[in-house]
Amino acid sequence: MNDILPGEVETWQFLEAAARRVFSLHGFSEIRVPVVEKTELFSRSIGETTDIVEKEMYTFQDKGGNSLTLRPEGTASVMRALIEHKLYARDPLNKLFYLGPMFRHERPQKGRYRQFHQIGVEAVGVDHPSIDAQTLAMLSHFADEIGLRDLDLQLNSLGCPVCRPDYREQLLTFLQERLDALCDDCRRRYQTNPLRVLDCKVAGCREATHEAPAMLDHLCKDCDDHFSAVRSYLDGLGTSYSVNKRMVRGLDYYTKTTFELVTGQLGAQNAVAAGGRYDGLVKQLGGPELPGIGFAMGVERLFLLLEGSRCEATKPDVFLAALGEKARREAFNRMHHLQRRGIRAEMEYQTKSLKAQMRRADKLGARFVLILGEDELTRGVAQLRDMADSSQREVELARLEEVFVPSPNPAATDATCA
Ligand code: ATP
Ligand code: MG
Repeated sequence: MNDILPGEVETWQFLEAAARRVFSLHGFSEIRVPVVEKTELFSRSIGETTDIVEKEMYTFQDKGGNSLTLRPEGTASVMRALIEHKLYARDPLNKLFYLGPMFRHERPQKGRYRQFHQIGVEAVGVDHPSIDAQTLAMLSHFADEIGLRDLDLQLNSLGCPVCRPDYREQLLTFLQERLDALCDDCRRRYQTNPLRVLDCKVAGCREATHEAPAMLDHLCKDCDDHFSAVRSYLDGLGTSYSVNKRMVRGLDYYTKTTFELVTGQLGAQNAVAAGGRYDGLVKQLGGPELPGIGFAMGVERLFLLLEGSRCEATKPDVFLAALGEKARREAFNRMHHLQRRGIRAEMEYQTKSLKAQMRRADKLGARFVLILGEDELTRGVAQLRDMADSSQREVELARLEEVFVPSPNPAATDATCA
């Protein structure tokens, strides 16, 4: 679990602001749900035999004896909220996004942590393939907006309760002949959740299942038509993608369209975002029969991809340097008034030489330094130094408001991002 420090947090804020902007352009509203839910919400939705539920959840008993879990993902909580507040009664299509920490007890490594952050979206209520294409196009819009390059959007279809059981049988037959070549986990998966064998990262398992039948080749007519339509909408938009028949997601609720946004730059942790359709989930959680589709992006992985073009921390607009106690008082009051007017103002709080104060102003990257000396104070003036070209001029303290004009949104951090 990581701390996010000043110097890094600006890039996080940049990513969050970009998500808010892009998602709202596409008509998605933010929803905030708790980080803790009843354990059964996750075991029922994600699936009892998935890695997440079997071994990665942070589960504990509260003082009332309830089993609670730190959320390992966002979709289940958002669906719980949608059902609890009957959001579907307000609007037949709910387009929602969330951002926040998720918790999984995994082996930590680059791009994989125990507390990590996701930005995710869910579109619930409509099963038309144009919604799938819209969701994918929005993901690609977001990636372009933050300047990600060399990404591969991989699509697959995981079928539905009509076609998956037959496919599952065919896969079982195929795997049965190769059980000896599979790892221990996969021999267990063969019994409990055979599709997950296709997702195993062990080289031997990958090799043994190289020629395994693919769900995509065994879709029913409805699923097949849906997949073709999603592709044709994307083709119409000019959104590029590839089809990856082997892709299986780590959560059981997916149906039909599934996808991953993959990068070549993060080694084994190559999925930046992942998602898909989950048409049975709301019903399964006790709500009405509502189809849905969504995805979640890993913010730490986005951050790693952006590291070369990190955002710069905000810098003071002006640093007030003072000589003598009386001037310090004046500088202190002036600083506070500038801050209240939306100007980023700073000063040295300890008694330091002018030289030391200038050094600190320089270190903080202040745009201007306002130098207040005792003499000048009696004349109601100060020296304004432009740190960019070291030029200096005298300004009247009474007219400081004309010198410093606040930025339009003083609440924003305004970090500059390359
Ligand atoms: P992976 O195959 O990388 O384990 P996943 O299938 O478990 O991913 P999802 O549960 O679909 O991933 O989560 C969506 C995204 O969240 C992933 O694509 C990834 O960017 C990010 N993510 C998932 N688990 C972690 C983690 N432990 N640390 C950091 N990011 C993560
Ligand atoms: Mg995982």
